[in-house]
Amino acid sequence: MCNENYFWEKFAPIRRICRNWSKFASRLSQGDDFAIGSRSADNYIYTMKTETLSSENFRPFRATLLRWYRRNRRKLPWRETRDPYRIWVSEVMLQQTQVSTVIPYFHDFMERFPTIEALAGADLQAVLKSWEGLGYYARARNLHKAAQELAKGRGGEIPATYAEFRKLPGVGEYIAAAVQSIAFGQPRAAVDGNVKRVQARLFLIDALVNDAASGKIFREAGDRLLDRGHPGDFNQAMMELGALICRPQNPLCPQCPVGKFCGAFARGRQEEFPRRKPKETVPEYHIAIGVVRKEGRVLITKRAEKGLLGGLWEFPGGKIRQGAETAADACLREIKEEVNLEVKVDAQLARVKHAYTHFKIVMEVFLCDYLSGEVALSGPVDFRWITAEEMGDYPFPKGNHKFLSHLNKSLRGDE
Ligand code: SF4
Repeated sequence: MCNENYFWEKFAPIRRICRNWSKFASRLSQGDDFAIGSRSADNYIYTMKTETLSSENFRPFRATLLRWYRRNRRKLPWRETRDPYRIWVSEVMLQQTQVSTVIPYFHDFMERFPTIEALAGADLQAVLKSWEGLGYYARARNLHKAAQELAKGRGGEIPATYAEFRKLPGVGEYIAAAVQSIAFGQPRAAVDGNVKRVQARLFLIDALVNDAASGKIFREAGDRLLDRGHPGDFNQAMMELGALICRPQNPLCPQCPVGKFCGAFARGRQEEFPRRKPKETVPEYHIAIGVVRKEGRVLITKRAEKGLLGGLWEFPGGKIRQGAETAADACLREIKEEVNLEVKVDAQLARVKHAYTHFKIVMEVFLCDYLSGEVALSGPVDFRWITAEEMGDYPFPKGNHKFLSHLNKSLRGDE
């Protein structure tokens, strides 16, 4: 019997094997081998079955990356030193901020506050003035507070242990690991956004990089991969790779020193990683602001030290009740509520948009003339009547800087 049915029955087991192999090969080529099982770094790293990065070749990976870093690293002011204070300040400034923006701020800050003692002894307003425009002012307030604690309790000495350093205000896991590894050679992996992106591509980690729940996976991956003999250089090498080569968009894979170890590059999937939660749409608020003029001076108020833009100076104002009042009416109402003055709106000075991390604002800025009343504060913690010349002495939020030069010209009569 040699018909077609007989043939297919006879070879059925072989066909089954071929079908299963084909499914397996297809999954392997899509990288499924990395993401099977429970979500831990062990799973991502130790279940790899391919020619790319696995625990067996961590050693050549580290050596290759360090060699590249030592030959190609950018000359940055905080890399010329092992002074933990300078390294700490640089790492705090670099959070959420680009290197090119930080460099002039770093030089200026170091000139004004060259030591922990100098920073501790400075007035918070001077520290905020030096930080003006960098944003995320809680970083400056915490740095100042931490310096005061160190000056008082430890003679200005920065703790050389992760646990002690971590107790200081504003010192989170990343800052502690970065400073301790770079300044003191402590074997701690510093895992920031750049490093997470590199890890996600190297190991095909599909956990969401901007989800707090994934933090453990990236931290563990960092600990496994860390070169414990050279933790400071290794951490900086990972960050430098993320900044220069493994960029968020269009990573330079053909030039990548560790391309041969990379799971994503091997599969042509580098654009798929890292995975992120979609951005939520942020609300937009409309704000009315009044610059109150009186006898050649204008009124500024100081925000409470805790909270958004804490300790900075601004002009009185607040949210417009949309549909219930005009921007000019809101300006009059807010000035009355906030500083208890009667004023009249003269003219609109500017309309300015500004974006914060979680919301956006549109500011309607009015020039107002003082009519009557004594300043009584509700919300702000201090106030001053200042001249246009004195405006540069006070730290203002970045959003206000978008109309300050215009205001200055107007007050000086140039416009
Ligand atoms: S090969 Fe490409 S994706 Fe992989 S680490 Fe290098 S730059 Fe990043």
